[in-house]
Amino acid sequence: MKYVYFFGAGKADGTGDMKELLGGKGAGLAEMTRIGLPVPAGFTITTEACGYFFKHGRKYPNELKAEVAKAVAKLQKLTKKKLGDAKDPLLVSVRSGSARSMPGMMETILNLGLNDRSVQALARNTKNERFAYDAYRRFVQMYSSVVIGLPKEELESRLRNLKNYLGVKDDTQVTAEGWRQLVDEYKAYFKEKTKRDFPNDPEEQLWGAVGAVFESWMGEKAVTYRRVEKITGLLGTAANVVQMVFGNTGEDSGTGVCFTRDPSTGEKVFFGDFLINAQGEDVVAGIRTPMHLKEMAKRMPKVYKQLEGVRSKLEKHYRDMQDLEFTVENGELYMLQTRTGKRSPGAAFQMAVDMANEKLITIEEALERLKGEDVERLFYPVLDPKLARNELASRKLASGINAVPGAAVGKAVFTARDAEEWAGKGERVILVRRETSPEDVGGMFVAQGILTATGGKTSHAAVVARGWGKCCIVGAEKLDINPEQKRVSVNGRVVKEGDWITLDGSDGTVYTGEIDLVRPAPPKAFATVMEWADGIRKIGVRANADTPHDAKVARDLGAEGIGLCRTEHMFFKDFEQPEKSEERQQAIQEMILADTTEARKKALAKLLPFQRNDFIGLFQVMDGLPVVIRLIDPPLHEFIPKDPAKQEQLAKKIGVRREAILRRMEQLKEANPMLGLRGCRLAIIYPEILEMQVQAIIEAAIDCQRRGIKVIPEIMHPLTLDKKEMKILDDATRRVADEIISQAKVKLHYFVGTMIELPRAALLADQIAEIAEFFSFGTNDLTQTTMGLSRDDAGRFLPEYVDEHKTGIFKADPFQSIDVEGVGMLVDWGIRRGRATRPKLEVGICGEHGGEAESVKFCHRVGMDYVSATPFCVPIARLAAAQAVIEEKKAKRRRAS
Ligand code: PEP
Ligand code: MG
Repeated sequence: MKYVYFFGAGKADGTGDMKELLGGKGAGLAEMTRIGLPVPAGFTITTEACGYFFKHGRKYPNELKAEVAKAVAKLQKLTKKKLGDAKDPLLVSVRSGSARSMPGMMETILNLGLNDRSVQALARNTKNERFAYDAYRRFVQMYSSVVIGLPKEELESRLRNLKNYLGVKDDTQVTAEGWRQLVDEYKAYFKEKTKRDFPNDPEEQLWGAVGAVFESWMGEKAVTYRRVEKITGLLGTAANVVQMVFGNTGEDSGTGVCFTRDPSTGEKVFFGDFLINAQGEDVVAGIRTPMHLKEMAKRMPKVYKQLEGVRSKLEKHYRDMQDLEFTVENGELYMLQTRTGKRSPGAAFQMAVDMANEKLITIEEALERLKGEDVERLFYPVLDPKLARNELASRKLASGINAVPGAAVGKAVFTARDAEEWAGKGERVILVRRETSPEDVGGMFVAQGILTATGGKTSHAAVVARGWGKCCIVGAEKLDINPEQKRVSVNGRVVKEGDWITLDGSDGTVYTGEIDLVRPAPPKAFATVMEWADGIRKIGVRANADTPHDAKVARDLGAEGIGLCRTEHMFFKDFEQPEKSEERQQAIQEMILADTTEARKKALAKLLPFQRNDFIGLFQVMDGLPVVIRLIDPPLHEFIPKDPAKQEQLAKKIGVRREAILRRMEQLKEANPMLGLRGCRLAIIYPEILEMQVQAIIEAAIDCQRRGIKVIPEIMHPLTLDKKEMKILDDATRRVADEIISQAKVKLHYFVGTMIELPRAALLADQIAEIAEFFSFGTNDLTQTTMGLSRDDAGRFLPEYVDEHKTGIFKADPFQSIDVEGVGMLVDWGIRRGRATRPKLEVGICGEHGGEAESVKFCHRVGMDYVSATPFCVPIARLAAAQAVIEEKKAKRRRAS
């Protein structure tokens, strides 16, 4: 096995494609060398060597020593310099670089090869003693902290003291003698702490640095970063040993970082910072304020022109925006790094569109480059990126599961009622709950963000919040929430009602205090990308929406109908007339508490006008597009308050005693409500509920149709498991609907179908399709019932299952990205069997998966007609649907060749 890859003088062992092995930096250096750009010579020790290092108790592979020695010899020959030489010393940098960029998370050592002898030679040869000793003190400083682990602050404080003593402010004002003195102090400190001398031997220095770079792969910062960024499956970091070039030899030297386009707007302008007479870390560390590249163009016109040339060459070569690092040494340009640049979501869209228009890439490539997250992040407010990292770190309170991205700031409240009350007074609130239930929905709606201590990505809080595009963190288990005392404590810190907190839903972090948020406006390029995607995709995209407001948002985001209206969500809040919310709630509670059919019918009659209005609103917004309305689904007891005070209030209002409520609750209580009297079982047992809901739908449709609105109602029964059951539901639905239609003397076409949410329904889909006119896969429940994992509780242990460093049993959370192998098999089977009976059977999906890119691609592959996603995920689905077509085409081409 080859562990070392050399590059220099226009030739390189590696190529730009070898990122996995050489890391991004190593691959970039090799490729830049190959295409004739000015790159200092050097070699890359592979990520495989790093992988070996960790697998074998921090030992290097046997052959590595010899390979490195050979590469060093080659480098010395090429540069005609020698490490540690007393006459013409070679100096190198040792830099980390893994396959995925992890900015600032790993270590680098510069100026390696300097010692008491070679520093003198450097001073002589550059005729710059000050420069030579500055380089030396930087090396000793870096080596001491990075390789040996001496505290940075101790070293920095010695530098500060020196400057105080010399009476100077800037590093540039420190004299050669000053730097020499500092080197001595650093070395004395080194000896005091390590009980040995600072290593003079360049070989020892080199191996120390390589070890430290490898170690930094497992450093806390890097490990955390990989976890947060979900970077998995990498071997380790490479170590790049590269000849040093100096940006700090005088006024015709300097160093800079730049992007071939503006990474925050995407604009095609050369964007970057440059510092004259400085070394790389000075730019990154922000010690001195750098100048804009425009200024550099004036100060160093020749070099700038050359850099412009490099910019366009690299963009053409990589066909993407590059993030570059360069150094100018005595008027000579050297490229030190090129990598695909990170960009804001807005810039990602702008660049994709521009590059396609410039014909740098094809439209298909432009679409492929954008990710679901780019779309998602376009719409959510974010923490102000200007906020200092250490400030942020000091405010961190807890972390949980990032259920809905974006950020939210508000005052902590601990009950839904308080949320509504505070919000009513114009306060911004964050609703903090152990878990949420449907009765919290009003409070959730008015809150800026939602934080729960339990639950996973498809828990009630997460599903509801996602529907609104509202920042939500669930499963923050360390939170000790005390709703009675209205406070939450975590690791000894307490947040009381009314204290400000900030949620970062993109990584699931909770902060104390009020952090500034910014909301990025979607760029014009977004619309272009969506148009391109729509031109390519084959599968339809609808939305899960329960209110006219959500429906409007969804339609504006390109939804082609409603794929799921959860009617029970309408019972808890009147979104159009909030003052009527209580009336609605009371009617549904009365309906549930009724213990005779008559009483139930009376309560249902009160609900009828509300529901009819809701449906009218939906049909109006969706004029001309299909609207799938699902009849009541969740277990009834969810609608009765658990709080004794609230029960008392309710009893008073509806004229019963609280005991009656408790008795009824006892009757309704189930050990396993998710598998109990819910879904269409409710309509089988209480047909009057179905009758009221169908009446509301059909009357709303007739009303709209009379006013010239084109309605396409699709009435959907949830959780069916049998043909006979479906037949009873279908008969009941049609009996009510047809009666109303015939009395109204109108023509109205409606469809009756079912959700497929149970394995039995999928298996017997051919029978169910004899009755059902359409299927919609409810993959939240289908995942739950197929895997036997509770969608509300699995969040507690799923992280262990998904983390490849733990068990790695699943590649992804199956409630988020469909389990193609298992659940997917049932979906595929269900579609085939259903269409065997009814070839034109309309098939869609309305579980949360309908808004997740990989799941959408799966839905395309199995031939669904549409996916239905929460409104803010509609563009994600549109994009993923186009990507599915592109991927399919590519696969076909591959098979053909
Ligand atoms: C489902 O189960 O996938 C579904 C859409 O229904 P709900 O989430 O309301 O149970
Ligand atoms: Mg369901």
